[in-house]
Amino acid sequence: MSDTIERVKCLIIGSGPAGYTAAIYAARANMRPVLYQGTQPGGQLTTTNEVENFPGYPDGVTGPEMMMQLESQAKRFETDVRNGWITKVDFSGDIHKVWVNEEKEIHADTVIISTGASAKYLGLDSEQKYLKLGGGVSACAVCDGFFYRNQEVVIVGAGDSACEEAHYLSKLCKKVTMLVRRDEFRASKIMAARVQSTENITILFNTETDEVLGDGQVVTGVRVKNNQTQETQEIPATGFFVAIGHKPNTDIFKGFIHLDETGYIKYEQPGTSKTNVSGVFVSGDAADHVYRQAITAAGTGCMAALDAERYLAAKDATFEVSTSNYN
Ligand code: NDP
Repeated sequence: MSDTIERVKCLIIGSGPAGYTAAIYAARANMRPVLYQGTQPGGQLTTTNEVENFPGYPDGVTGPEMMMQLESQAKRFETDVRNGWITKVDFSGDIHKVWVNEEKEIHADTVIISTGASAKYLGLDSEQKYLKLGGGVSACAVCDGFFYRNQEVVIVGAGDSACEEAHYLSKLCKKVTMLVRRDEFRASKIMAARVQSTENITILFNTETDEVLGDGQVVTGVRVKNNQTQETQEIPATGFFVAIGHKPNTDIFKGFIHLDETGYIKYEQPGTSKTNVSGVFVSGDAADHVYRQAITAAGTGCMAALDAERYLAAKDATFEVSTSNYN
C-alpha cells in the first residue's frame, strides 16, 4: 500500500461511452475528473466493428475509433485519464475510498461508476477467433444485425434477450436458427411464443454449439450437436450471435452499493443517477440490463456528472455549479 493518499473531487471508474461522457461534463464543470480506464480501455464498443446507430456519425464509425474520439474529447477538457484497475472500494464513510491496483489509495468526494457489463460468450476457440477478427461473431443483434440483411444467421441462447434478439434479426435476415441447449426456453412464455410463431426462425432444442466454422477471415457456418442423440450437423451462416446473458462489472461494490439479484446497480431514485450511497452515482450498463446501447450509456453518463456537480455544490458552498453544462 502506498503512503500517499490522493484526494480527488470526481473519480470516474470505466472508459466506455458512459464514463467518457461523464468525464466531458464533469471536466467542463471544473470538477477536474480523474478517470480510470480499467482492463478494457474503451469498453464493450471496442469489440464492435461498425457503429451505425450513434447519432452524429452519418457514415458510421468503428467502435474503437469512436472510443478514441471520446477519449480525446474528454482529454481536451483536461480529464486526467489513467490506466489502472479499481480493486477495492470502501463507501462506508463520508469520504469515498477507492484503491487502484491494490495499492494506490484515492479519496473521492464523488464517484461515478461506469464499469459496464460484459457479454458472456461460450468460450470456444473458434468463437473467440472470429470475434477478435470482427468476422461475424457478435453479442449484440441491435448493434450488428444490420450487417446481415438477407443473410442466414445463428443465435445461441434461450432467455428473454435471445428471444428478443432472434425476433429482431428475423426482420432483417433471411433465416435465423436459434440454438437452445435444453428442451425448453428460459424466456417468458410470451417472448418464447413470439419466436416460435415467427416463420423464418428455426428453433433447435437440446442443441449446443460444437464449433463456429469459417474461412479464416469470416464465419461461414456453425457445427452443432444434439446433446440427446449426439448427432452433429452444419448450419450455413454468415453471422453467429451469442445471447446467453451479460455480467455487470459490479463485484467490487458488493456490500456498499445496492445491487439487484443479478448484480446490476439499483438506482436509488428513478430518473436520476443516484445510488444508495450519497455522492456515488452510476451510469451505463452497470445499471442497465434493458437498453444497453452506447447512446443510452452516454446519456446516463451526462446525468451522473450533472448529479455529481449538484451534490458537490450542495455540500461545499465554495464549489459553484457551472453554467456551461446547461447551455
Ligand atoms: P438469462 O440469464 O435469462 O438467459 C440466459 C440464457 O442463455 C439461458 O437460456 C441459458 O440457458 C442460456 N445459456 C447460458 N449459458 C449457455 C451456454 N454456455 N450455452 C448455451 N446456452 C447458454 O439472460 P438474458 O440476457 O436473456 O436476460 C437477463 C435478464 O434480463 C432476465 O431477467 C430477463 O428476463 C431480462 N430481460 C428482459 C427483457 C424484456 O422483458 N423485454 C429483454 C431482455 C432481458 P438455460 O436456460 O439452459 O440455463
